[in-house]
Amino acid sequence: MPNASYSNPLQHIVINKNSRKMKKITNIILMLCLLMQVLFAQKNPESTEIWEPKPAKVTPGEMGLPPSDAIILFSGEDLSNFESMDSTEADWTLLNDYMTVNPGAKSIRTKQKFGDCQLHIEWLTPVSDTNGGQFKGNSGIFLMERYEIQILDSWENKTYSNGQAASIYKQYIPLVNACKKPGEWQSYDIIFIAPKFSKSGNVISPAKITVLHNGVLVQNNVSLLGPTEYTGMPVYKVHGDKEPIVIQNHGDFVSFRNIWIREL
Ligand code: MG
Repeated sequence: MPNASYSNPLQHIVINKNSRKMKKITNIILMLCLLMQVLFAQKNPESTEIWEPKPAKVTPGEMGLPPSDAIILFSGEDLSNFESMDSTEADWTLLNDYMTVNPGAKSIRTKQKFGDCQLHIEWLTPVSDTNGGQFKGNSGIFLMERYEIQILDSWENKTYSNGQAASIYKQYIPLVNACKKPGEWQSYDIIFIAPKFSKSGNVISPAKITVLHNGVLVQNNVSLLGPTEYTGMPVYKVHGDKEPIVIQNHGDFVSFRNIWIREL
């Protein structure tokens, strides 16, 4: 009686050869399928259409007013969404539909913290300010309490270019000077991407800022070198994923209105 478990080595060789042949044929078929798909995609517009997910529907605001999904930070009624830098009540001057820096007080910050965001803010530098340079309508928007987009009367005012209105303070000169005259309302539309840090504290990706000043692109997705420092070179220091937004008190009577934000 022949052994039931006996197998012929020649039979294995034939099977292995057949298996390799099958693999080759399968690969060729797969490649042909892929090629057919590519050729199909090149000739059919529908094949590159993406139908899902659908973006959320948002109603745009009229004439600079906030869209339907914005968080209103200041609409002219009160300063309840802000506090002073020493955590006491924000004590800037509220008049009509705007607020004005109180030079005797501190800077103010949002009570809520933000990371990636789209921020709209309107500001006005006073006609009465007869100083010059960095002392003419100076304020600023500090994203995450440390990355400043400068506010300054830069209509006709000599100062360093990387410190004029719409500069990323001492890091990026604005692409153009889109400033209006003092006494006229101006706007910033800011898109901010927060920096990312590794667990060990290294910068994985820097903060990025895009700014439109009165609707004109002045900062185009610039990568920040670190916090905007008055003195010295910027160096990143680890901070939270979300931090408050600060409006600077630089001692000048700068006014603000219509502040809203969308988290990204
Ligand atoms: Mg400033």
